Amino acid sequence: MSKNDQVPASNFILSIIREDLKTDKFAGLVHTRFPPEPNGYLHIGHAKSICLNFGLANEFDGKCNLRFDDTNPIKEESEYVESIKEDVRWLGFDWQDREFYASDYFDQLYRWAVHLIKAGKAYVDDLDADQIREYRGTLTQPGKESPYRNRSIAENLDLFERMRAGEFPDGSRVLRAKIDMNSPNINLRDPVLYRILHASHHRTGDTWCIYPMYDFAHGQCDSIEKITHSICTLEFEDHRPLYDWFIEELGIYHPQQIEFARLNLSYTLMSKRKLLQLVQEKIVSSWNDPRMPTISGLRRRGYTPEAIRDFAERIGVAKSESTVDIALLEHCLREDLNKRARRVMAVLRPLKVVIDNYPDDQIEELEAYNNPEDMKMGTRKVPFSKNLFIEQDDFRADPPKKFFRLAPGREVRLRYAYFIKCVDAVKDPETGQIKELHCTYDPASRGGESPDGRKVKATLHWVSAAHAVDAEVRLYDNLFTRPDPEDVAPDEDFRKNLNPDSLQVLPNCKMEPGLAAVKPGERFQFERLGYFCVDTLDSKPGSLVFNRTVTLKDTWARIEKRED
Ligand code: ATP
Ligand code: MG
Repeated sequence: MSKNDQVPASNFILSIIREDLKTDKFAGLVHTRFPPEPNGYLHIGHAKSICLNFGLANEFDGKCNLRFDDTNPIKEESEYVESIKEDVRWLGFDWQDREFYASDYFDQLYRWAVHLIKAGKAYVDDLDADQIREYRGTLTQPGKESPYRNRSIAENLDLFERMRAGEFPDGSRVLRAKIDMNSPNINLRDPVLYRILHASHHRTGDTWCIYPMYDFAHGQCDSIEKITHSICTLEFEDHRPLYDWFIEELGIYHPQQIEFARLNLSYTLMSKRKLLQLVQEKIVSSWNDPRMPTISGLRRRGYTPEAIRDFAERIGVAKSESTVDIALLEHCLREDLNKRARRVMAVLRPLKVVIDNYPDDQIEELEAYNNPEDMKMGTRKVPFSKNLFIEQDDFRADPPKKFFRLAPGREVRLRYAYFIKCVDAVKDPETGQIKELHCTYDPASRGGESPDGRKVKATLHWVSAAHAVDAEVRLYDNLFTRPDPEDVAPDEDFRKNLNPDSLQVLPNCKMEPGLAAVKPGERFQFERLGYFCVDTLDSKPGSLVFNRTVTLKDTWARIEKRED
């Protein structure tokens, strides 16, 4: 990862930290944290936050904690905790022994709540949720004080203790901060600190039946962990005065909160709640469906951690909301895969080709480059024989202008092999579909050049029929048809914009024989087609499944060119 001087100057957080180090604000320390709520799988937006928080710690020889903000027992599960740890590790970051949980601090948070009650700064309220909402007022109207606001400290202590002891049903009472019902900042209108929830927690079990609200936990957790820079997304800017209020009233260590704009990506939903909906309604197969913007989905799709880190670096951090073009993410991926993915030949929609003048039983082993971008990756042998497969797309019985691939009477090159010329296209008498092609080859063009200097306009990939390995290939496309999936009429939701063609399964693909021995997760470039990886869940020896990671067509490179 980059060192100080290589980081884009646009990163305003770096400037703040450099300044703090100069003024010795935090005794020269940089201590950040990544604080997920374990209520879903991480997505590419979280990756931005992870790269930022761990990246800053790396940059300044500081530390970054992994802290689970697990204050809501109803929506949180250990499955999510495990997936989050796996994803952060996979992205290449290490929290060492600093794995923390807000729930580890429940005792301390409770004592702090009691402290606020004793200071006359918190009270037990008997209004129900609807009433509290009604009393809160709006952006244009001030709030109204609860009739329970002026209970005595003794009564508040007693009620809060009994809330904890389980005497009251869910929702019957809450603990609220006593701040200001007229504050222009709604977060300061006596926010709820604790609620009653008779629910088992994934870590504390049934120890508690009252749980702190996120806002009462988050800032104090950062304080307990002596976080120097609490980096969070812009929507927490309005919560900062509340966090500051808690920290001042409690007289505890004060981290510096810095807000940045969250990542929005075109054609992509980025809310855990909506991603959960996609899973629950079986619109996708699971959280790690390769169409999901989750880190586990991207991983299964074939993304590399290097590509995601590169993307995070390039988008930088800013103070204003914007939407990043998904083409940039794909561009970062192609750049990485181009360097290291082995090239192979695979035919996705096979069309049989018979080379009429090729000896019936002859097999030649032709030499092919594993990566023309990196000769160190060496070569391999690919068998060539009389019966081959090419792509159906690479032949037209009646070629339009500018179609330079195979057609009746037309000569093309087979990659690493020979020039072939189409002499006949056999149709299925019933369907009218082309069943097979008959071609002749020029033995003098072995290796792909003709000694007489004859030119051809296209080079096709191919696979020897007798040697081919069968595989299923899954072609993925954006899950949504619109750049903004939420761009719908008022009575519709994002499901209206689902792309019906986001997954296309091709069951009868033909691969060069070397692919019989692939390992789950292995990545390749299928020549002329794109980057593909072996599916980690469904692929088995003998019944291979490949996922298309990304096509070769780089729309981002085109966008950049246009802008130059
Ligand atoms: P979502 O809105 O997707 O449900 P969240 O903010 O509720 O996400 P958390 O688990 O609280 O999810 O997020 C953990 C950290 O990741 C927070 O610090 C949050 O600010 C950050 N984060 C979440 N979404 C994004 C995003 N799109 N871009 C950058 N950072 C994000
Ligand atoms: Mg959140």
